[in-house]
Amino acid sequence: MSTMSRRGFLQNSALVLGGLSLTSLVGCGGQASGGSEGSAPAAAAGAGAKLVEEGKLTCISNMYFPPFEFMDEKTGEAKGFDIELSNAIAEHMGLTANWTSESNQSFDSLVPTIKAGGKADIAIAGMTITEDRKQEVNLSNPYLDSNQSLVIKKGSGETLKTLDSDEKTIAVQAGTTGADWAKENFPKAASAGNIKGLDDIITAMEGVSTGNFNALVTDLPVASYQINENGFDGLEIEEEIPTGEQYGIAVSKDNPQLLDDINAALEAIKQDGTMAKLQKKWFGQEL
Ligand code: GLN
Repeated sequence: MSTMSRRGFLQNSALVLGGLSLTSLVGCGGQASGGSEGSAPAAAAGAGAKLVEEGKLTCISNMYFPPFEFMDEKTGEAKGFDIELSNAIAEHMGLTANWTSESNQSFDSLVPTIKAGGKADIAIAGMTITEDRKQEVNLSNPYLDSNQSLVIKKGSGETLKTLDSDEKTIAVQAGTTGADWAKENFPKAASAGNIKGLDDIITAMEGVSTGNFNALVTDLPVASYQINENGFDGLEIEEEIPTGEQYGIAVSKDNPQLLDDINAALEAIKQDGTMAKLQKKWFGQEL
């Protein structure tokens, strides 16, 4: 759906809701939110959760991680699975998800920003739940299972074995679980300083295409999407790496009520079929 028709759709829903009786509006928590598949909000708005901006769930992410989050090139609008999930969560809480030009940060700055507080309520960024991150922030219950992947240029013949050499260069996104995996599993390349931590995965993929890097380690759903749907068909997945990761949403430890509200909203979104619908839309299947 284009931006214009989506706006039109939302306006129309608001108009329809405007025509409903008072009882049905109260039944919706007083929110003319539109499009929540008829399920009731899981949490009452503002009941103890601190928010950066009243009425809004202010989000940050790293917008170079399709199909989880990316910028629409023409409109500059935030798009993707996590964006739609944040909209559904906000709606369940009687809020609006707040995505602005300020929402885009480097991945490795997301946890520190949430910990510091004041800028955003949540980071939703295909972020794996790890013990290290749990020391810094709260992470929601898991919302998606994921694994890593080794991506090479088609026909280059690189393998896990050939890549562990001081003559090979492997790109990763700085501060990610893929970066950690590469450092552990390519010790020779790592000690030669050849695991290159970049700000974004798109630059890493371009670098593998042009031969600047011999390989890239990143989350499997992102690698599959980029290769199969987004023009990087000169690359291939050489290995699926079963790390058994799970994604969670980062919330400040100073905001336990918000964590509870987000977990309640996630549960409702799983129960009412929205989660399955979003996964089918962005991944062609449930993950
Ligand atoms: N899931 C990986 C991690 O949490 C990568 C996330 C990302 O690059 N957006 O480290």
